[in-house]
Amino acid sequence: MCGIVGYIGPAKASQILIDGLKRLEYRGYDSAGVAVHTPAGFAVAKKTGRVANLEREAARHVLTGTCGIGHTRWATHGGVTDANAHPHVSSDGQIALIHNGVIENFSAIKRFVTGKGYTFQSETDTEVLANLIAYHYAKEPAPAADAEPSRLLESVRKSLLHVEGTYGIVVMSRDHPGELVSARRGSPLILGIGRGENLIASDVSAIVGRTQNVVYLKDGELARVTADAFAITSLTQGDDVVPVISQVNWSIADSALGDFAHYMEKEIFEQPQALENAMRGRFSEDGSTAQFGGLNVTPNELRQVDRLLFTACGTAWHACLVTEYLVERFARVPAEVDYASEFRYRNTPLDPNSLLFVLSQSGETIDTLAALREAKRRGYRGLAITNVVGSTIAREADGGIYQHVGPEIGVASTKAFTSQLLLGAMVALYLGRMRDMSYADGKAYVAALKAAPDLVRRTLTQAEHIRGIAQRYAGYNDMLFLGRLALFPIALEGALKLKEISYIHAEGYPAAEMKHGPIALVSERCPSVFFVTKGELFPKVVSSMQEIKARKGPIIAVCTEGLELPPGLADEVIPIPDCHEAVLPIVATIPIQLLAYYIAVARHCDVDKPRNLAKSVTVE
Ligand code: GLU
Repeated sequence: MCGIVGYIGPAKASQILIDGLKRLEYRGYDSAGVAVHTPAGFAVAKKTGRVANLEREAARHVLTGTCGIGHTRWATHGGVTDANAHPHVSSDGQIALIHNGVIENFSAIKRFVTGKGYTFQSETDTEVLANLIAYHYAKEPAPAADAEPSRLLESVRKSLLHVEGTYGIVVMSRDHPGELVSARRGSPLILGIGRGENLIASDVSAIVGRTQNVVYLKDGELARVTADAFAITSLTQGDDVVPVISQVNWSIADSALGDFAHYMEKEIFEQPQALENAMRGRFSEDGSTAQFGGLNVTPNELRQVDRLLFTACGTAWHACLVTEYLVERFARVPAEVDYASEFRYRNTPLDPNSLLFVLSQSGETIDTLAALREAKRRGYRGLAITNVVGSTIAREADGGIYQHVGPEIGVASTKAFTSQLLLGAMVALYLGRMRDMSYADGKAYVAALKAAPDLVRRTLTQAEHIRGIAQRYAGYNDMLFLGRLALFPIALEGALKLKEISYIHAEGYPAAEMKHGPIALVSERCPSVFFVTKGELFPKVVSSMQEIKARKGPIIAVCTEGLELPPGLADEVIPIPDCHEAVLPIVATIPIQLLAYYIAVARHCDVDKPRNLAKSVTVE
């Protein structure tokens, strides 16, 4: 949440910052702002709404400097107003700052700096930090011109020692146009190392247009960045940190929209390729199991594991639920799923042979990161499934699996989700083949997973049919999603997708559970989406459909090909290919993604930037 970008170099900063903010906008879009150094002090432009609004506002200001900072906000403290937009400038005009995170002790700091004569323009927690740094800056003795460390760096360091909460910040001082100071605790920050210019950003997408060389800052690190140098020190000890420069493997073209109307649409249609990328090189030579390069757990150690815990937030939590089902079904290992935000605080007992998996597309989800840290603090091994190479979770996990699906920009997750389902299914296979799964069953499982991209491709050909259904159902205000076994989490995901982007109230339930409460919602104004597949539960699901029909509820059936439903029972049928149990959740996800997408489009919703949401939740 919240996008941060800073630039220092020879070029005009404001345009680089605004371009960067456009690429970061999916991380927060309540308001946006930039501040640049000018000979007359800071020039600041900020505006509620999208970066396009900021761009118009910026045209009314003289933003000529070559050093500056920019921010897209996802408000935590204080409403969505121009005054609360970042950057914030200290009341003495010395410090300008952008911030991602929450200053938990902002009231105490505010009292302190108010007592020292500093005043406030906004309701944010962030502004207290600008004033606190200004206070320390004013107290800091002016060093000799070329002295190290700088006065700004030292005043940031002293201030942060008093801060409780989370932050990723970039700070400028009016009197030092040639430097930016940055620090993080709990919020991602990356230095982009260019030629004669440097950048700081919350996300590589703001950097890749100018350089592929990056340094990932760690929690508790402070960076001082000039146009042609950078130095990192530890916040508490002040020791120098030896930086590791990594290469980013995403290019700016990976995040281009192309001919699609929205990123969500693009990412839905990219799924066959995304699945191919996620599975590439990850099957054994004899084709009977999965293999992973970076788990850092030996087969012998994995053999000892007698309990798996999967933890995540939001859509990734649904992927955990499917994985739990597959791991128990095919590997016969007891598995459990917990919301990361709950796991962290509820003191779950873990026995010595437990293994934790955390799932996070961005690798920065703060609740998931906190859950991983909590498990590691207790001495457990924590593995990660994440999409962003070099992300905090990827770096702090003991090992893991990258999703390799390229940048996901749409706030509503699609290709990241199905690739998590695929990798979860592969983990189940891998563990299963270490235990009771036979060679023949392993081969059949692998063949089924390899067919997933084609099955998804086939399902995507239903897009026009689903668009028609969406147009007929876009006017409803409630919807139920009902599935059983591994398709129950897909029902949850269907409801979540619809809520997120179309603002229709929707709920997901196991189909049989519907009669224990949710059926009270059913009427001709509340359609139900059923997942119907062959097998022993088919007649039970049909009975649930009959119960809805008896109460005049319209029914949309996502139904495997070849199944015969009683005539007239479903008002709409979306056929999906019949396939292996491990692949079915992936294939069944496609219709509900398309349904949510086309309903949101029909309701004229801002699909890629749904209200109140932002990608990559980096605040608690
Ligand atoms: N807490 C700060 C605010 O409300 C920063 C929020 C963000 O991370 O965008 O302004």
